[in-house]
Amino acid sequence: MNDSSHNASVPPRHADTRVVTAGRDPASNYGFVNPPVYHASTVLYPSAEDYLAHRSRYQYGRRGTPTTEALEAALAELEGSRCAGVSLLPSGLAAISTALLSVVRSGDHVLVTDSAYGPTRNFCERILTRLGVVTDYYDPLMGAGIADLWRPNTRAVYLESPGSLSFEVQDVGAIAKVAHDKGALVLMDNTWATPLYFRPLDHGVDLAIQAGTKYIGGHSDVMLGTVSANAANVAALKETVRLSGLCEGPDDVYLGLRGLRTLAVRLERHFKSGLAVARWLQQRPEVLRILHPALPTCPGHEIWKRDFTGASGLFSIVLKPVPQKAYYAFLDTLKLFGIGASWGGYESLAVPFDCAPVRSATHWAPGGPTIRFHIGLEAVDDLLADLERGFAALAAASAG
Ligand SMILES: *Cc1c(COP(=O)(O)O)cnc(C)c1O
Repeated sequence: MNDSSHNASVPPRHADTRVVTAGRDPASNYGFVNPPVYHASTVLYPSAEDYLAHRSRYQYGRRGTPTTEALEAALAELEGSRCAGVSLLPSGLAAISTALLSVVRSGDHVLVTDSAYGPTRNFCERILTRLGVVTDYYDPLMGAGIADLWRPNTRAVYLESPGSLSFEVQDVGAIAKVAHDKGALVLMDNTWATPLYFRPLDHGVDLAIQAGTKYIGGHSDVMLGTVSANAANVAALKETVRLSGLCEGPDDVYLGLRGLRTLAVRLERHFKSGLAVARWLQQRPEVLRILHPALPTCPGHEIWKRDFTGASGLFSIVLKPVPQKAYYAFLDTLKLFGIGASWGGYESLAVPFDCAPVRSATHWAPGGPTIRFHIGLEAVDDLLADLERGFAALAAASAG
């Protein structure tokens, strides 16, 4: 197959193929499979007149290069036909703040899910508040009932589905319908599913956000954010990015492109192994409940079944009550599960968490200590053996 004959206006049907072909044009790169990494600030113009008229395919390093365009084009293709453009940002949090800043004005009100990533909340509380934008939080399990929280100045509703600690799956379609009926915009953090397992713009979302740091990068070695916009919102997004001076490093963009090529095959394995480990944990006497969107014990599971085409490797469990030292002994004993923030890399992680201090619209009382797992690409048997050791340590610490 000749990659260059691939017509970008007719993307291949299968996402597995698109992650391989999207944003690549070997014919314009001397046949090399991958695009080059442009390290660039200055762009030279042929004449004074061209310079003053900004007559050049590229104007300045900050404004984009063939490398950044390649990743943007690839992501746009994955988001589906409603996507009118993608912006890259230097982190997932920068993607969240930029998307929000592209839609709000002083005097606006925004509704944010109570399950949102903590720093999203901090941005609303510490920055949006200063700009005269008021945030209210809502129960992530609200569907059309969110209409009751509407105010005349409600400009946008922000979703994150599922929540990346607590895993409530939201009814995106129902919320988007209310928002659009009332003339408001819909933003969603789609880091957990990636556009391979859920395409927000197809479900009425106006601006879809990803921490590219997670599954797009896939190797725990890059910070990257992405915002995908529909036609009505892409100009404001691009303008906000441009005026803010935000730009991502070329090597990070390249790592994003490189990660993207194996996204489908990695996610398939995260899905399969994650579910296998979750089901094993479900049988353990120490475990009270599994919060995995693909299992019926997860709030919103029915919506996951209706809307998503897969699950990634991130989920949580609730342990039956144990002394704190037993909770910690379990985590500290694990060898294959690292203790650390972030996720989406090839390696497994397990972290303690507590949503209670940051909740305001809902009450977080899961009934026992909670742990979030990221299931990496290791063999499931090895992971289960590691968890078995963890549970032995938990039992020993509970007894002692
Ligand atoms: C990690 C994460 C982010 C932030 O991404 P960074 O690249 O770390 O800034 C945003 N949303 C979710 C759901 C995340 O897990």
